[in-house]
Amino acid sequence: MTLPAEVAAAVDGRRLGALIRDVSTLGGLPGGGLDRQTLTKPDLDARRLMVDRCCSLGAQPWRDPAGNFFLRWPATASDEPPVATGSHIDSQPGGGTLDGAYGVCAAIEVLAALASTGARLRRPVEAVIWTNEEGCRFAPGTMGSSAFADPSALDEFLAATDGSGATFGEGLAQLDAAFPDVPLRPLGVPLHAFVEAHIEQGTTLEDTANTIGIVERIQGSRWFRFQTRGAASHAGTTPRSRKRDALAAAVEVASALYGLLTEGDDALRLTIGRLEVVPGSVNVVPAAVTFTVDLRHPDTEVLDEVEARLRALARPTAGCDVQVMRTMTMSPSLFHPAVVDAVARGARSVGLPSLRMASGAFHDSLRLIRHCPTGMVFVPSRDGLSHNTAEYTDPDDLVAGARVLAHAVAELAGR
Ligand SMILES: [Zn+2]
Repeated sequence: MTLPAEVAAAVDGRRLGALIRDVSTLGGLPGGGLDRQTLTKPDLDARRLMVDRCCSLGAQPWRDPAGNFFLRWPATASDEPPVATGSHIDSQPGGGTLDGAYGVCAAIEVLAALASTGARLRRPVEAVIWTNEEGCRFAPGTMGSSAFADPSALDEFLAATDGSGATFGEGLAQLDAAFPDVPLRPLGVPLHAFVEAHIEQGTTLEDTANTIGIVERIQGSRWFRFQTRGAASHAGTTPRSRKRDALAAAVEVASALYGLLTEGDDALRLTIGRLEVVPGSVNVVPAAVTFTVDLRHPDTEVLDEVEARLRALARPTAGCDVQVMRTMTMSPSLFHPAVVDAVARGARSVGLPSLRMASGAFHDSLRLIRHCPTGMVFVPSRDGLSHNTAEYTDPDDLVAGARVLAHAVAELAGR
């Protein structure tokens, strides 16, 4: 057996399942699911559990100024940059137990598998916990991985406040106080590669009856804000010919947008998620409506084409002025072929049906792309549910994903 196959075979499903269960009690909600927002007590408790688990395996813990944790399995030549694997353990206020936490638990299981085989690889292997991926307590999300890849970003993050006025910087100070035993190292240390295991949070794997997603890219996103302007007037006295109803115009534009979605290919995503009506009174013809559009696709050319058609809707409609503005752009991002291929070999070696695919959601891995060769492994999400307490993945699939991760990590760290 090759060394990567030996490490993959040493992944222990019961040990992994027990760790996922133990971690999910920290911030666990009475009816199931989680509220473990970043740098709250449940987050710190979960980090303590993971640090202790890794130290008992013989790993060395580190943290950095953004609160990222690195649990390092030593190598034969320890001055080589490590292969890192992990994700986040913070959740949405009503999140599931697997979004993020699965990737960290699988990373720790890789360390446990290395420990049980006694394997020493050419490069160290580090299990990583990235801080504040979700961005629900402190915006924006992926703060820890962003600051790791670009340390100049941290200063701005420190001032971010939560709903009670506490800052991200204060949260980090509490983390420092809770982990005096975990030594500090700088942001952005060199990594040989980064691999993240994550639940898919979509239905592609389930719909195609595949167990493993070999993630090649993260799709691009663009956000827009539409505004329609008419005139407020009395709902009872304004004749149809004089009405300049901003909501009527918005509805026309919105239905044209939904039309783009039905004409586009299956990978096109278009969501109108927020709509504000002014003045918002039951008996006043709306004067102005603002609504958002979230547009996603893996290909830039398709995004360009849909954007051009979307912009063409910014013309006088139903007696109202219509304007559109782009408010956010995230280009499609490609993962590194060396890591993608290592994941593919992992899937093949453990004999599981797999699919090369794009990620629909953002992940910490998106930030790591500019730091080192990066890739991801997906496992199915039942009904695609995530950011939901009912999030679920078959335990066999969780173990399968961890085996593929172990194979990929051992291969990358061994050569
Ligand atoms: Zn996540």
